[in-house]
Amino acid sequence: MDNVIKKIEALGLGIHISKGIERTIIGVIGDESIIRNQPLDALPGVEKVMPILKPYKLASREFKPENSIIDVDGIEIGGNKIAVIAGPCSVESVDSLVEIAAGVQHAGATLLRGGAFKPRTSPYAFQGLGEEGLKYLDVARKKTGLKVITELMDPRETELLEKYADIIQIGARNMQNFRLLMEVVLQKKPVLLKRGMSSTIKELLMSAEYIMSQGNYNVILCERGIRTFEDYTRNTLDLSAIPVIKELSHLPVVVDPSHAVGRWELILPMAKAAIAAGADGLMIEVHNDPGSALCDGAQSLLPKKFAQLMDEVKAVAHAVGREI
Ligand code: PEP
Ligand code: MN
Repeated sequence: MDNVIKKIEALGLGIHISKGIERTIIGVIGDESIIRNQPLDALPGVEKVMPILKPYKLASREFKPENSIIDVDGIEIGGNKIAVIAGPCSVESVDSLVEIAAGVQHAGATLLRGGAFKPRTSPYAFQGLGEEGLKYLDVARKKTGLKVITELMDPRETELLEKYADIIQIGARNMQNFRLLMEVVLQKKPVLLKRGMSSTIKELLMSAEYIMSQGNYNVILCERGIRTFEDYTRNTLDLSAIPVIKELSHLPVVVDPSHAVGRWELILPMAKAAIAAGADGLMIEVHNDPGSALCDGAQSLLPKKFAQLMDEVKAVAHAVGREI
């Protein structure tokens, strides 16, 4: 393999390596015309040279046929076991956060969500507690052992978030904020990339490519509903995106039914549907007092309802050969 790498490097091209069980794929990135004139398939150890036609290369199944499993400090996302992320929309107080964290952990979640920097439609709405909120997440992590995911909105806060988050969330509104995407590669922390509300699956994969092209392969994709003409629900959950992404990409897919439907009553059936359709994980908003939540109370489940969701989702997971 070294001979191939040396040759590619000598041509001034970029290299991305994917080690599979049967073969190693060396992804070559750069000007195609340079490669076209090189008999790379004549090099010892090369089985074949294949152009990846899709505009997303590193995110494509062609580049990596096996599913990617992202390791979040011991918790795997993308393997047989379904990962459940749960918690409030935004971090509000340390007491409520710890109470919610204990509740969701008891029900079987392994990751805690909670925004400290909130992307709100109105400038007058609660914008999040900032670093104070991150500190509360750290308290909840230490008390429960849950891993923490929180949203990065501004490249200037990357270092701060990396200190506190186990997974960095890129929200729907920032899916195509390319400078932000380039920032989240610094420590190779796992990134959960949410699909923009008006973005195609291809655009989502191109945004994943931005992160991966900078050397961070730990990308988790998230379907969170898209805008359609239907306004009964907050968005429309694009269930078919799950098998489509699975066909096109090796990256894990997490589904967020909370932001998709916007109403707590509809979250349970959509969570079950997502798992039946092949999702690798769920992100669910949970609050101990949804009526007084500072953000997204209408779509937040009480911990007791979340426990019921976990029970019912478990049956679906087992029916499709998954653990939870
Ligand atoms: C969130 O997860 O709190 C959030 C703001 O979601 P989205 O970016 O999908 O709207
Ligand atoms: Mn929310």
